[in-house]
Amino acid sequence: MRVFNFSAGPAAMPEEVLRQAADEMLNWRDSGMSVMEMSHRGSAFSSIHEEALLDLRELLQVPATHRILFLQGGGLAENAIIPMNLFGVKPRADFVVTGSWSQKSLTEARKYGTAHLAASGETARGFTRAPLRAEWQLSDDPAYVYLCTNETIHGVETFDIPDLGDIPLVADASSHLLSRPMDVAKYGVLFGGAQKNIGIAGVTVVIVREDLLDRALPICPTAFEWKTVAAHNSMYNTPPTYAIYVAGLVFKWLKKQGGLAGIEARNIEKAKLLYDTIDASNFYLNNVERAARSRMNIPFFLADATRNEDFLAGAQARGLVQLKGHKSVGGMRASVYNAVPLKAVQTLVDYMKEFEQRRA
Ligand SMILES: *Cc1c(COP(=O)(O)O)cnc(C)c1O
Repeated sequence: MRVFNFSAGPAAMPEEVLRQAADEMLNWRDSGMSVMEMSHRGSAFSSIHEEALLDLRELLQVPATHRILFLQGGGLAENAIIPMNLFGVKPRADFVVTGSWSQKSLTEARKYGTAHLAASGETARGFTRAPLRAEWQLSDDPAYVYLCTNETIHGVETFDIPDLGDIPLVADASSHLLSRPMDVAKYGVLFGGAQKNIGIAGVTVVIVREDLLDRALPICPTAFEWKTVAAHNSMYNTPPTYAIYVAGLVFKWLKKQGGLAGIEARNIEKAKLLYDTIDASNFYLNNVERAARSRMNIPFFLADATRNEDFLAGAQARGLVQLKGHKSVGGMRASVYNAVPLKAVQTLVDYMKEFEQRRA
């Protein structure tokens, strides 16, 4: 039996996609081989790659001004790859810190230049808010402003993306890319690792505005230089072929769900069900400001933390798994990515109510 999987990542996959990958595992469309056995330069894999690019461009409405790159190294490697690619002209950037991931990005950027803290979402109760544009204290002429638009550990999502004029906005959208429509034109760079909402670990989607391709530091490794990667259509070196194939299957699945508007409606419904359950009781709590509550990662705490283990054991017995919060914050976290069905959330809230009544 398959469980209800609330993992933060690697995370639940659409069952349909897993079945198709299984069906095609030994022999992809009469090629006589598995996708993972194909040359990345052959026509079969080229068609997989091109279709994935086209479907992603269509889903996210990526404008012609932006290139889509398939890189490796995950979200964390981008913390170095981004400054190495953008610090060539002026080695300084501003950071809006809304949780652990953007804090890590700021710290890593300091290896390559000046990283200025422009705003922080930290309060007495931890990272609980997304600072508004009016609160951002930008420095004089930064190379870019960095933001993590969905902080996976703290459950803080930024919905209001400001227009920064000539300053490129760089955003880590690892844990909510493709969960809703986004205006890609507002970003200089928009990126995300695949293992949350896009597919399996191994590929990082990096969407870069053309004019930013040529600002790398000389020390930037060639294989991570966006200009080189773009010139070779993400094939400067061997790309993560199987991960690109699976992402392509997910893109097709998303199109069948009504695209990003369709999936957004379902994500809103799932998040509302869970937040309403948390807010209706004093037994559970979530400290994030309402306007910044993530639709993808929903942390919650039991008012009585001594019941945490008991809660998790009861959940496990019902097939509700990977609900333990990140070790840095404790409590619980339900990640309800695109592939997590409404039924999983319904089963979870039914269990939460039952657990509260039983223990009250
Ligand atoms: C998961 C995650 C990362 C790290 O991704 P890796 O692939 O492990 O490097 C970075 N940023 C955010 C927002 C994430 O959710």
